[in-house]
Amino acid sequence: MAIVSCPQCSQKISDKAAVCEHCGFVLEGQDQAQLARLRSRTKADKINKLTSQSMLAMLLFMLGIAGTFYFRDESSPDPGWQVQVSMLVMVVGFIWYLINRARIILVKKRL
Ligand SMILES: [Zn+2]
Repeated sequence: MAIVSCPQCSQKISDKAAVCEHCGFVLEGQDQAQLARLRSRTKADKINKLTSQSMLAMLLFMLGIAGTFYFRDESSPDPGWQVQVSMLVMVVGFIWYLINRARIILVKKRL
């Protein structure tokens, strides 16, 4: 018995399973070539989604940087709330970007 990934939800299932226990996808009677096609399409969709999410994260990061400089007040020693929010947006965008890159690598590695 081998472990394969479900063509629809990408969870790990037995290659002997008739139905995916995670999403209910029917595997029995499907031909291998079609399953492989479906699997690579699911994978490509996932990578596309993650790629657009990392673009969004990058945009957030750059907005945060822009905001930090835009709202910075040289004459005052403590940063205003706008600067603090901008820095927070920058950090969240950066972390989100890293998470997305890591997830893309993981999806590419699988299968
Ligand atoms: Zn499934």
